[in-house]
Amino acid sequence: MPGYDDARTASRALATEAVHAGRDDLARQGLHAPPIDLSTTYPSYDSRGEAARIDAFATTGAEPDGPPVYGRLGNPTVGRFETALAKLEGTEAAVAFASGMAALSAVLLVRSSMGLRHVVAVRPLYGCSDHLLTAGLLGSEVTWTDPAGIADALRPDTGLVMVESPANPTLAEVDLRAVAHACGSVPLLADNTFATPVLQRPAEHGARLVLHSATKYLGGHGDVMAGVVACDEEFAGRLRQIRFATGGVLHPLAGYLLLRGLSTLPVRVRAASATAAELARRLAADPRVARVHYPRIGGAMIAFEIHGDPHEVIAGVRLITPAVSLGSVDTLIQHPASISHRIVDADDRRDAGVSDRLLRMSVGLEDVEDLWADLDGALERPVRGAGQCRQAAPPRGATSHNAPAAAGAQ
Ligand SMILES: *Cc1c(COP(=O)(O)O)cnc(C)c1O
Repeated sequence: MPGYDDARTASRALATEAVHAGRDDLARQGLHAPPIDLSTTYPSYDSRGEAARIDAFATTGAEPDGPPVYGRLGNPTVGRFETALAKLEGTEAAVAFASGMAALSAVLLVRSSMGLRHVVAVRPLYGCSDHLLTAGLLGSEVTWTDPAGIADALRPDTGLVMVESPANPTLAEVDLRAVAHACGSVPLLADNTFATPVLQRPAEHGARLVLHSATKYLGGHGDVMAGVVACDEEFAGRLRQIRFATGGVLHPLAGYLLLRGLSTLPVRVRAASATAAELARRLAADPRVARVHYPRIGGAMIAFEIHGDPHEVIAGVRLITPAVSLGSVDTLIQHPASISHRIVDADDRRDAGVSDRLLRMSVGLEDVEDLWADLDGALERPVRGAGQCRQAAPPRGATSHNAPAAAGAQ
């Protein structure tokens, strides 16, 4: 991109990159909003040249110079999002996919296509990531370990080490630098969905691959499903080749929405994080709550265990949306043991610290007092006890804090 690498653009702050990266050519083209290129194919009268560009792609996976040949090889609108996300994560490149799971699948396929089928992973991971590895759906074999056990778990055929930090759903954190060191020459994949590059840039700590479910904070409005891997250009080339061969491409309209989402990412994450920190503080002081998990690095996610039945809290919210997923402008709450981590074997789930009493809340941009009022009301339902939950609420203060939790451990 002309002018993109000059001294003024080399050292821009994250908030500036969020608004400008991937758009630096627009003003010179007389454009303000990025164009959406919906083409599936690209005409060319030079088929010799096109053959050479296809050969080059087959060799390195480098994006073809000039227009793409076909939508599955690349798309200019999606390319803008990839450029911007790479800039925010501090990596050479990024490769976007149809979902976070498509992105993780592509990473696993890159490694297994090189004969490196073994994965070392630290629990908890997002439920479906856990399932993909545990079930070996893509022919991989997983060894679960804690961060201290990574070095010992490595084998000659280990192709990947995978961690999430803060992890879904417990918000457990790992020391990325120490983990990257333990990996030696094996690529470390850090799922950075929860932290976003606003709070943490895993590549700076030695992660070779940074994965996002862009469905969450990057999109930010609950209306686009996407995944992306930020990494070095060499790995990106292999990911593009897998994407081309297996077809998990991102739609250009989704690429547009993600680029737009990135422009407000720092503002959204900081505002929601401030509210989340306050809610975490209030929850920690609340006798109806047994335990609060809130990461050291902050963020807009809170996990908490309650004394009563978590299903009653889900049934009791009114302003907060009872839904899986996260990272939207509105606050969402869900019960991981029932929804996001249902697919993980119950014993494995509990071993990973995902208690049946755990609730996971993604804090949005609403006013903190409105959120607290809703949460406070919802927390009263389990205290009132199962069986009375459809009846009118008793007066506040009339209830005991140590309610029997009859239905809590299903
Ligand atoms: C949601 C999620 C995923 C999966 O992403 P999809 O876009 O739903 O495919 C992966 N990792 C984490 C941490 C997630 O929260």
